[in-house]
Amino acid sequence: MPMSSPILRIALPGPFPEPLDYLLPEDQKAPPIGARVEVPLGRRRVIGIVLQQVAQSTIDASRLRAIIKVLDDTPVLDPELLGLIEWTARYYHHPIGECLATALPVRLRQGHPAMPSAQRQWQITEQGKITLPSELAARAPRQAELLGRLQSTGRLSAGELGSAGDSRGALQRLVARGDATLSEKADYGLISGQAEQPPPALNAEQKLATEAIANANDHRPLLLEGVTGSGKTEVYLTAIQEHLSAHRQVLVIVPEIGLTPQLLDRFRQRLKGEIAVMHSGLPEGERLNAWLAAQAGQADVIIGTRSAIFTPLPRPGLIIVDEEHDASLKQQDGLRYSARDLAVMRAHRLQIPIVLGSATPSLESIANARAKRYQHYRLDQRAGAAKPPTLRLLDVRGADMQDGLSTALLDAIKKHLNAGNQVLLFLNRRGYAPVLICHDCGWIAECSACDARYTWHRGRNRLLCHHCDQDRPIPAVCPNCNSVDLRALGLGTERIEAALDTALPDIEPIRIDRDSTRRRGSFEQALAKARQGGAQLLLGTQMLAKGHHLPNVTLVGIIDADQGLFGADFRSAERLAQLIIQVAGRAGREINPGEVLIQTHHPEHPLLQTLIHGGYPAFADAALSEREAAGLPPTRALALLRAESTQRHNAARFLEEAKALIASTPHIELVGPFPAPMERRANRYRMQLFVQADQRGQLQSLLERWLPSVARSSLARKVRWAIDVDPADT
Ligand code: ADP
Ligand code: ZN
Ligand code: ZN
Repeated sequence: MPMSSPILRIALPGPFPEPLDYLLPEDQKAPPIGARVEVPLGRRRVIGIVLQQVAQSTIDASRLRAIIKVLDDTPVLDPELLGLIEWTARYYHHPIGECLATALPVRLRQGHPAMPSAQRQWQITEQGKITLPSELAARAPRQAELLGRLQSTGRLSAGELGSAGDSRGALQRLVARGDATLSEKADYGLISGQAEQPPPALNAEQKLATEAIANANDHRPLLLEGVTGSGKTEVYLTAIQEHLSAHRQVLVIVPEIGLTPQLLDRFRQRLKGEIAVMHSGLPEGERLNAWLAAQAGQADVIIGTRSAIFTPLPRPGLIIVDEEHDASLKQQDGLRYSARDLAVMRAHRLQIPIVLGSATPSLESIANARAKRYQHYRLDQRAGAAKPPTLRLLDVRGADMQDGLSTALLDAIKKHLNAGNQVLLFLNRRGYAPVLICHDCGWIAECSACDARYTWHRGRNRLLCHHCDQDRPIPAVCPNCNSVDLRALGLGTERIEAALDTALPDIEPIRIDRDSTRRRGSFEQALAKARQGGAQLLLGTQMLAKGHHLPNVTLVGIIDADQGLFGADFRSAERLAQLIIQVAGRAGREINPGEVLIQTHHPEHPLLQTLIHGGYPAFADAALSEREAAGLPPTRALALLRAESTQRHNAARFLEEAKALIASTPHIELVGPFPAPMERRANRYRMQLFVQADQRGQLQSLLERWLPSVARSSLARKVRWAIDVDPADT
């Protein structure tokens, strides 16, 4: 092979630790770095990304194969984004090709041209926003359904309608009524911010934070710790607008549950610029459009969930991560990345400001702020006239309870409803009851595939495993003793709903959980109903508890705080404290003062006591000391080597052998292997080995030396295994 024939190093999806080398045929023009190419792999053709052009390969040139086709003449990944993804691959010890596959929109991975598609799309009009779908429901159910969807998403594309035959006709009639408009131009599907609403005058705390974000001299990440309702979003909006005015792009990362039509409305009303939305629920075509709009510089603001961290930003100005403590920011399979941590790294590489906002920051971010690695700004006052809610524990030991509701809580509910206010009840478990038990022999309905009980879903009349999604009918008699006396044990939202029907027959509670909102748009409809005001009783899981501004709620009842008090995970306490404070934050968001009642059998528990008397900051103090004493993050760096197998001994032996591969190393401790808190899930046994290090750098260099030999070990092919750097849970 003559020296002149160039060799391309190409990252391919799959478990290849390194990019693979291919030849560029002489008649082909060399593709730029970051472009897609199609190459042969075994007998398949796959799409990869060009990472490098080299003069020589480590493989004998005669064995190299040639690329089939160059798909792009301009790169789909610019050097900055490519660099970030390469960093991600190194930090999380994940194959580069797989990291690229996670970062790229599916359509690009499949070889779709990197061009926006033309779209027929229906948009909601101002009139359509206030038309009640229920007005249409009787005569035109299809129109009502489509109007509901339009109200929740703002627009519908032809692709989203699927093949349902009568949709087009129903949409035509909505257009004729003036509730929707149809556009057919090829566009990126952006939302145009109109800045039609003036910003409120910021208070002193908000001003300080906004000025700090604008101060270009300090490139440390900024932690914005603001109690719920303190006006963090206003700070974001002000900071974002400054960057838009300077023609710079802003990337906003929000948790899955945080990307609501209300938030988008607020962005649209307050910002002047083009807004692209990205989340996993979008049809692939729209996701590609949003990504391309960002790449082309057409989108000024990109707001999206976790994977939006991999959006191209040709003119970057600012990154914001809202609810930075939220667990959904960490991917739990494949490339186990933290979008928050990558956002911090990306901002650092770009030398642009980054804001991490939360009412309940992660202990990691609080520790960073204390060590002065982050700037720390606090918003301790609620914005406007709202006052902080008062938190009180309701000791339910020995109390008279009706299906989980104490008399004291019921009395409080009645009082608030009678005053014309709204009540929000929180229980983080859907279904009727988490256990179905035989009263005669004690038999319990257990999932055959998991170490878990079935949850009884009365509405669906099924038993459902919340861990593997398996379901089955409810047995008529006990399979063990044939008794018909099967009873519900424990509480779920359906059961609370039923109890409320009995205790407060005049009130119709609005239940919001994954079961009650399975129909598209039903979640938004329920929230819209709640926002109409009037005495209303809301009941739900964390779907209801996070992020929503429900102005008329004055009482929040946490039905069962005990659930999370004794969790096996080292983050259980942190998660519970965050959840309680987030739920409590729904109370008293406007002029009416809020009250929060927390039912517990453990009123003396230190976590609850600290939260009640010192709030989240006091909890964080205590929790950080505990983590320090236990040598857990953020004090020490942690990675988990996870293994799962249908054979219990294989998973355990793989981890034992992996552990034996390294001699004892200073500053490093390998602990385990232990069974995962739920050892068997979906018929697989799950084990984990803890790798702890005093410093992140020590952990990284150990993983670099160790993992290649782990991959070569004899059992590595018999088990499913993964390394999880900075695990979110165990
Ligand atoms: P957070 O994001 O911290 O929960 P928001 O930014 O949503 O808080 O603010 C809570 C409410 O207070 C919103 O209705 C918002 O419009 C209002 N608000 C925020 N800042 C101010 C301000 N400086 N003056 C008046 N109202 C404000
Ligand atoms: Zn029985
Ligand atoms: Zn199961």
